[in-house]
Amino acid sequence: MTLGSTNTVLSATTSSANLGLMQKTNLLGLSINDLEAKMVMLGLPKFRARQVWRWVWRHGLTNFDEMSDLGKPARGQLSKIFSADRPMVSQRLQSIDGTIKWLIRFDDGNEAECVYIPDKTRGTLCVSSQVGCTLTCSFCHTGTQKLVRNLTVAEICGQVTLAMDELSDWPSGKPKRRLTNIVLMGMGEPLFNYDNVAAAMRIIMSGEGVAISKRRITLSTSGVVPEIKRCGEDLGVNLAISLHATRDDLRNELVPINRKYPLAELIDACRNYPGLSNARRITWEYVMLDGINDSDEDCRALLTLIKGIPSKLNLIPFNPWPGSPYICSSNDRIEAFARRVLNAGYASPVRKPRGRDILAACGQLKSESQRARRQKTGVSF
Ligand code: SAH
Ligand code: SF4
Repeated sequence: MTLGSTNTVLSATTSSANLGLMQKTNLLGLSINDLEAKMVMLGLPKFRARQVWRWVWRHGLTNFDEMSDLGKPARGQLSKIFSADRPMVSQRLQSIDGTIKWLIRFDDGNEAECVYIPDKTRGTLCVSSQVGCTLTCSFCHTGTQKLVRNLTVAEICGQVTLAMDELSDWPSGKPKRRLTNIVLMGMGEPLFNYDNVAAAMRIIMSGEGVAISKRRITLSTSGVVPEIKRCGEDLGVNLAISLHATRDDLRNELVPINRKYPLAELIDACRNYPGLSNARRITWEYVMLDGINDSDEDCRALLTLIKGIPSKLNLIPFNPWPGSPYICSSNDRIEAFARRVLNAGYASPVRKPRGRDILAACGQLKSESQRARRQKTGVSF
C-alpha cells in the first residue's frame, strides 16, 4: 500500500513461526478444524481437538492440568506442544466511567491497544487488527506511527480472551455476560488484514466458544472497496465506514485511501453490501472537524450521499492529540449537525466520548507510552 505513506510494512508472522521448532503453537489462533488437523498430524486422536477447544474457548482455561476429561498422559503431551497464552499487558488504565484500556505487548515487542467500553445494556470491546496503520488519515494518531505489521489470528483473539479473563466472563455461555459486542475499530485497517481478522472472528463467533453473533460484531474500514463485498458475503458482520467527507477533494486529504477508491466506488460497494436491510444498516462514521466538514451544507451533502442506503450515522467529536492539525467542532455545531441528521430520520447520532481521562482515543495510549520511553532513553523513533 503506498498512497503517500512513509510507514514500513513488515510481513505477518504467526506467533510460532520464525522462532524455531521448540515454540509451542498458540491454541488461540486455531479453529476447531485446524486443531483437528494438528492432532491427526501429531498422531493423536482427533476427538481431543474438540475437548481441548471447548476448555479453551468455553471455560478460558490456559492450564492443561485443569482439563479434567483428558487423561494425565494426554495433558502432559499436549502441554508440551500447545499453549493458550494471552498477550502481555504493558499498561492497563481504567477510566472513572468504567472504560478499561490495555496496551498490549506481543512476543516481538510490538504493541497495540484494546479498549473495553461498558454501557447500560452492553459491553463493547474495541479490538486492534494491526500494529500501527499504513494509511495516513490526517486526523488519526495511529496513522502517525511508523512501524506496521498485521496481527496474527492468535494476537487478535488474544485481545478477546484477555478481556474475558479480566471481566470474569468465563464460562462464555453464562447469562449476563459483560462482553457482548466487538468492534474492529482499534489500531489498523482490518480489511488490509482480512484473512486473519476473518479467521479470528469465526473463532469468536463459534457457538462452541465465545459465541458472539455476527450481528454483534462491527468491522470499521476506511474504504478498502475490493474487500467490502467479501466481508459481507463471507463473514456477514456489520459494516462501519469511516466516511468523514462527502467530496473527493476533501476526503483525499482526510482519508487518503480515497485517492485509490473514490467516493462513488465506495458508496456503490456499500449500497450492494450483502445482507443489507433496515435491521442491518451501514454505520457511517463522521469525525467532526471545526470549519472543515461541519457546515449545514456538509450535512445536506452527507444526507444526499447516503440516501436510499439503510444507514446509521455516528458523529464522532474529534479527539485531538499533540500536534494534530484540527480542532473539534463546537458543541453547538455538533448539536446543530445532529439535529439535521435526526430530522432526516436517523436516530441518536453523536458518539459519547469515553475514557478521555485515559487517552482512550485510537492510537493515543501507544504514542504516549512511546513518548515517555523516548524521554527516558533519548531514543528517537
Ligand atoms: N482503520 C479503520 C478502523 C480503526 S479507526 C477505520 O479507519 O475505519 C476507528 C474510527 O476512529 C474511525 O472512524 C476513525 O476515523 C476514527 N478516528 C481516528 N482518529 C480519531 C480521532 N483523533 N478523533 C476521532 N475519531 C478518530
Ligand atoms: Fe488507519 Fe483508520 Fe487511522 Fe485511517 S483512521 S490511519 S485507516 S486506523
